[in-house]
Parts: sequence; C-alpha cells; structure tokens
Amino acid sequence: MPVALKFGGLELEAFSISGLATYVLAPAFDACFDLGHCPVEATKLRNVFLSHAHQDHAGGVPRHFSLRAMFGARPSRVYCPAESAAALCDVLRAWERLEDKPAVEIDAHVRGLAPGDTVDLGRRYTVRAFDVVHRIASLGYTVIENRRVLRPAYRGLPGVAVHAARLRGEIVSEDHPHPVFTYVGDHTAETLRRHPELGQSDVLFLEATHLADTHRSTSARYGHTHLDDLVDVAREVPEALASPHIVLKHFSMKYDERDIRKAVAALPADLRRRVTVLLED
Ligand SMILES: [Zn+2]
Ligand SMILES: [Zn+2]
Repeated sequence: MPVALKFGGLELEAFSISGLATYVLAPAFDACFDLGHCPVEATKLRNVFLSHAHQDHAGGVPRHFSLRAMFGARPSRVYCPAESAAALCDVLRAWERLEDKPAVEIDAHVRGLAPGDTVDLGRRYTVRAFDVVHRIASLGYTVIENRRVLRPAYRGLPGVAVHAARLRGEIVSEDHPHPVFTYVGDHTAETLRRHPELGQSDVLFLEATHLADTHRSTSARYGHTHLDDLVDVAREVPEALASPHIVLKHFSMKYDERDIRKAVAALPADLRRRVTVLLED
C-alpha cells in the first residue's frame, strides 16, 4: 500500500520496493515521479517523470495512458531520459496493436529529456532534470518553486512603505527560485557527490537498496546505494544530504520492516533525525 507523507505544505503518496514498483504522487505539481505501478490516484495527475526505464519504475505508463483515456482525461505527458523515449513509444504502440485500438500520436505525449532540461508545470513550478548514475540512462528531477521575494533594501519595511515605493515605480521584489522537492530514482552514491546542490531541496527522495548483509561492491555493481554509502556521503559531502527531509526508499525485497528500521536507527544522529523511511506504519 502507498504511504501518505506530509512535509510542510507538501503532501505526497509514495510506494517503493526494489524490483517490484516505485512511484511518488505529488498532486501539488500535477505530477508522478516514476510509475512502476499505476494506482487510480496516479491517473488524476497528468505529468509522469520517469527516472529510468526499468520496469519497476516505468511499468505503469501504459496503464496511465489507457486509464486516462478511459476516464476522458487529456492524454498523459510522459518525460523520460532521451535515450529511452523511442523504445518507450514502441512499447506503447505495441500495446495499441495488442488491444486493437486506434493509433494516437504517442510521440507527441512522450518527451525525452537531457540533463539540464527544464519543464514548466504552470507558472509556479519548474522541473529541472539532472544526470544520475545507474545501470541504464537515468535522470533525477528537482521541482523549483518560482517565488518572488522583496529585494533586500525593502525587507523589514512596513507594508505601506513598500506599497508607496511600488507606486513610485521602484522594483521592490525579485525572483527567488527555491528547490522544494528532488526525486532521484535508482542511483549510486556517486550521484550525490556530483550534485551536492541536491541537499538544498526541502524534500529529497533517495534510495538505499541494500543494508549491512550485502557487500557494498555488489550494490555499486548493480547501480544502487548501500546505506553505508550514505553515511560516507554525510561525512565527506555533508551539503549533499543537508535537506531537512530525506526520504529513503527502494529497499530490497529481502528485508523486512524490522531489518530496515534497525539499520536506519543506527545512522549518525544528525542524519537519522531527518530521515523518513518509505515503509507502511
Ligand atoms: Zn528499481
Ligand atoms: Zn533501476
């Protein structure tokens, strides 16, 4: 079952077990991040950002398209690494043929992205893609809120004074983009070392597929993060894990809830108090 999460004003619903399915639903952004399985709630969100094309992250996409069509909603908008877009379109077209459905313009609804590309979600939010180290082409996504704040010279002034300045034609405010949410699908710890700025997000979704019983080299070979890798990153590149809310997901199926909670309880205190594990209560 998905887990309901709330960080400040941001409400999310998320599910993640390695190899089975991972998805994060963010109604505030009208977006899902990965869609290994497509629950009905996901079909209310138009935008789907895929980190990579492994089935446990992308298998729900055909259902998203067809359920939205069934409900009479506008077609899904799917974003994925540029390297995966053509094959994903092939899968969707193959399913049209299997179901003897009229062809729709699938290419128009699947957009491949490269690191640095941005997607506007209305005026308030912009998603920026960044490169991620995994076994196949992968992207992470940061949602940036396009805030406007008072320029330093006007901060602390009474409202009437700011208003008067505005009437005089002075420019009292400026853009202040703020990263509110970052989603990284499957990744090695190298991703965090390359992108220490990820730690500036209010909410940071990471993976920790393996715990102490798996050798760290095995984790790395499969393109995953071992919980001990995060301890190293916290020590060596603390800014990469500076987010007030870090969600750990994608634990291997071989662990039960107790194993995971015990391992996370042993994290260094400063990291542990900011970590939420994506598990049912
Ligand atoms: Zn996975
Ligand atoms: Zn994967």
